Formats: sequence, C-alpha cells, structure tokens
Amino acid sequence: MFIDGEWVDARSGKTFDVTNPATGELLGSAPAGEPEDAVAAIDAAYASFPDWANTTAYERSRLLYSAWQLMTERSEMLAQLMTAEQGKPLKAARAEVNYAADFLIWFAEEAKRVNGEWLPSQRPDQRFLSVKAPVGVVAAITPWNYPISMLTRKMGPALAAGCTLVLKPAESTPLCAKATFEVFVDAGIPEGVINLVTAVEPAPIGDVFTADPRVAKLTFTGSTAVGRVLASKSAANLQRISVELGGHAPFIVFPDADPVHAAKGAAALKFLNAGQACISPNRLYVPASLRSTFEETLCSRVEKIETGNGAVEGVGVGPLVSDTAVAKVERQVEDARDKGAGVPVGGTRLTQGDYAAGHFFAPTVLTDVTEDMTIYREETFGPVAPVISYDDPDQVIELANDTNYGLAAYVYTRDIGVAMRAFERLRFGIIGVNDVNPTSASVPFGGMGDSGLGREGGHEGINEYLETKTGGFAI
Ligand code: NAD
Repeated sequence: MFIDGEWVDARSGKTFDVTNPATGELLGSAPAGEPEDAVAAIDAAYASFPDWANTTAYERSRLLYSAWQLMTERSEMLAQLMTAEQGKPLKAARAEVNYAADFLIWFAEEAKRVNGEWLPSQRPDQRFLSVKAPVGVVAAITPWNYPISMLTRKMGPALAAGCTLVLKPAESTPLCAKATFEVFVDAGIPEGVINLVTAVEPAPIGDVFTADPRVAKLTFTGSTAVGRVLASKSAANLQRISVELGGHAPFIVFPDADPVHAAKGAAALKFLNAGQACISPNRLYVPASLRSTFEETLCSRVEKIETGNGAVEGVGVGPLVSDTAVAKVERQVEDARDKGAGVPVGGTRLTQGDYAAGHFFAPTVLTDVTEDMTIYREETFGPVAPVISYDDPDQVIELANDTNYGLAAYVYTRDIGVAMRAFERLRFGIIGVNDVNPTSASVPFGGMGDSGLGREGGHEGINEYLETKTGGFAI
C-alpha cells in the first residue's frame, strides 16, 4: 500500500494472493488492508490537503503531464501486467493503457482551465466574484475490469482540481493499482497527496470512507448494488458523490442500416474485454427484414474468435474474472435456452485442456431472445450476444428505453433523421451512432437512472472535484 509517501504493509501484516485468471498462476500478493490502514490513509490525505490545494494550477498540470509521460513510457510493461492480472488480450490492454494515459494529459490541460466569474450586483458599491475550489479529501473505489484507466479517470481530475485522495482498488487487480501509483509517485506527486489502500474485504474500507467526516467526496465505479449502498452510507455525512454503475445497453439496427456492417460492429463491441464492460451491448435489436443476414454475419465472426490466455497472439476473448462470473453467464444462457432461445454459437463453459485452470466461457450468440428471459433485463458481463427480432421501428426506442439502466446505447442507420431522433429519444448517457467506441477522455462518461450519478472525463469531469465559492465585495 502507499500511505503518506511510503510503501507499507498492512498494519496487521496480512496479505492476499493475486492470480492470473487465465492460468490460475500466482502472480504475487498485496497487503490486506483493514480499517486502521484506511484511517491512516485519510489522515495523510487530510494533512496534505492545504498545501496541495495551494499549489498553482501550472504546478499540478506539470506533475500530471510528467505522469502522462511516464505512463506512456511504461505502457508495454503496464499492458503486460494488466493482461496477466485481469486477463484481457494484450492488444486491448495496450489500448486501455493509452486511454488511461489520455486522462492524465487531458486533465493536465483542464487544470489550467478552472476559472471564475465577476458577476453583477444591484448595488453600485458591491462586486461579486465566483470561483471554484477543490472539495477536499476524495475517497475512490475502483473496479477490476478496467484496472488502470478507472484509476486515472478519477485521479487525473481530482489532482488537477487540487484534491488529495485515498483509493481502494478491486481485490483482483491490486498490482495494476500499485503500478499506476508508481507512475504518480515517480512523477513527483508530494507525500500524502495520493494514498493506496489494498484490501481483500472491501466493505469495512468502504465503511471508513463513508463514515469519516474528513472525506468530502466519494467516487465509485462498480456494480449498481454496491454503489447504492455506498451512496446511502455517504449521505449521512453529506459527502459529494459520483457513482458510475452498471448498464444494459441496447444496440438498435434500423431497417435502413447495412446489416453486415452492423453485425461486424456488434461482434467487435460485444466481445471486448470478454463482455465485461459496463457499456457492452446487452440487447441487439434487429428488424425481422435484416435478421438472417445480421445473424449469419454475427455468427461467422463470433465462431472465428479465439478464446484463451490474453498473452497469446491472436486471442480475442480472455478469461472472465472469476468462477462466479462464469456461473452467472452460464445461468443466463441456460435460462434463455430453456425459454426457447437459439444458441447457434458457443453456449458453454470451456473447461478442457488449457482452459482447465482459468475461468472461460465460449463466445456465444443467442437468437430469438424474448422479454421473459433473465438476460433481457440482467446485466451479463460476459461474452454473450443476445439477438432480439423486432417488427416496428417506431416502437424499438421504447423497448430500448425499457430498463432501469441508462449508460450506453448504440444505433445503426444510414438516415440522418432516424439517427438524430434516436439520439434525442434514447434515455442513455452515451450514444454511439454507427460507432462502437463513443468514449474518450475528452467527452463526458456516465449514465442515467441506475447507471449512476455524475460524469467523468470531458470538461465536466473536473467539476466533480470542485465546489463553487461566491464572494460579495463592498467597495
Ligand atoms: P463491485 O461493485 O463488486 O466492485 C467494485 C469495487 O467496489 C471493487 O473495488 C470492490 O472491492 C468494491 N466493493 C465491493 N463491495 C463493496 C462494499 N460493500 N463497500 C465498499 N466497496 C465495495 O463490482 P465489480 O464486480 O467489481 O465490477 C463490475 C460492475 O461494475 C458491473 O456492474 C459494471 O457495469 C460496473 N462498472 C461500471 C463502470 C462505469 O463506468 N459505469 C465501469 C466499470 C464497471
């Protein structure tokens, strides 16, 4: 762990093992932090806040810029580590490190764009000034599926704004978190400003973060269930919160779209990170008129995807994070099959030979998916593409919106009017139009409804770490 400028063990001396999800191989261990460690981390962040908040925006920008340079220089090492610890194919891990580094350079620049306003008064002897100030100590909790970029997406803006922080990464990816912290430490972030608490039992650490009145802001990325619990606990202290949660993205192919192009897009998008992404499409709506061409193209693409250890050249789908994750996918596929879905590709766990020691599920296509199936409403977080056939293009937006989630949605059409109306009517925070990658450090990321509160990235991302201060000056 990294607390008050030092790499330290847990005060209890306990550790936990970190394994490769593709091979079961032991990669190392991490300190099993407990509440007393979390308190020490908050002590350090709280003590260092006044000095850090008083640094100039130019100084913070320079440090973030150095962190970007170091992360870029170390990108291959970070990508290899990510593939070993999290399982995604090396090519995807390299892309993630680039994305992670982008948040550093973006917020190095945004640090210098935080400004205020002179505002009018009704009194001739009065002037108003409104400025932005850092909120204070930030507590961050991050997930395993994007184990480096989810850290920089929070640390970049928090540091740019002048906040100090404590961060607890997911228990399956502490080594990526450590390597990310090393980047910031080597870039010269002062002692106490950033603190890392690794833990195998997350709830007691979350309890410290939400109960400590010195923590001004909680930022969380993970499941909706945990986000809800943390948000309710942090309400007692009126902590500011941002929670980026689950999703259940619709992917709508309109009747005028090119079904081959759309199916290629779906195949590329759905199997990224083995489907373990909150913006992964979970419902592919295809009009009856395009169904056979779409399904044929999708199936032929999915059949060719190689599943295995992400470190092996050519592998497109790696392992899932755990056996529990495989069991969840298996349960959803079985439920769909029992209720009449077709399974033209995949549909089973992979357990033989090289797969035996990892957590693998075969890339799968489900057809004839209907509303009564669990997969129609429950997030999958696995390599399964459920195709739903529809008849009425006027109704498909309503079907797509019929979910408590509201993170990402995708639309395929060649008609600008259809695209624009769909963009306006879909109740989701991020919409890809003929585009399977509508994310970037330069744009806001976040969801509506059960997908969360707040936005990360873009110009808005830094606002989550700032509050407004008004001054009235009698002159
Ligand atoms: P999770 O909620 O179980 O874990 C996320 C983080 O929360 C981990 O660090 C974990 O240790 C911690 N955690 C778990 N229980 C906790 C508790 N009681 N108190 C404090 N911390 C706790 O989710 P997961 O399985 O790791 O991640 C998958 C989920 O995250 C999916 O639902 C996915 O959609 C969501 N996700 C969302 C985004 C987004 O930006 N919206 C990004 C990635 C993942």
